[in-house]
Amino acid sequence: MNKKNKIDNLCNHPDCEMAGEFRAPKNYQNLNDYQWFCLEHIKEFNKKWNYHLKMDADQIETDLRFDTIWRRPTTSFGSGRRFYDFTINGEDMGSFENPSKSTNQSNKLLLSLSELNLDINTDIKLIKKRYKELAKLHHPDVKGNSKKSIDKFRKIVEAYNYLLDRYKK
Ligand SMILES: [Zn+2]
Repeated sequence: MNKKNKIDNLCNHPDCEMAGEFRAPKNYQNLNDYQWFCLEHIKEFNKKWNYHLKMDADQIETDLRFDTIWRRPTTSFGSGRRFYDFTINGEDMGSFENPSKSTNQSNKLLLSLSELNLDINTDIKLIKKRYKELAKLHHPDVKGNSKKSIDKFRKIVEAYNYLLDRYKK
């Protein structure tokens, strides 16, 4: 049994404190049982998964369901601005882009703080605490997969990851 529970909103990789924003199936047998990873670790998972997918191709009934729950890497994976198309139940939710790219940094800081209802004098402990509260509230596993709730969850996740980076050390 994993020590992290199903909806703790953090990356499922041991020792990783980033937000778990990318959903992945736990195994081939039960594609509806999810775990969550940060961008770095979803890439790692994706690599392993594809490897096993190739090895076990005939054991997999269909990759249709796989497609519906997986945020698939685009063709520009790793090279362009766009990392993942975000698809849930076949509906395109837009794409996840590197948040630091287009937004001015101090603006980004203020937006991220306000997204988590924090002020500039916050610290890493409070950021984590607030993130867990909000992410639990707005988690797609709780709120459902509507575009509106996904957008809200993604904003919280982006804010958290940004602040985690800004305030650590
Ligand atoms: Zn991670």
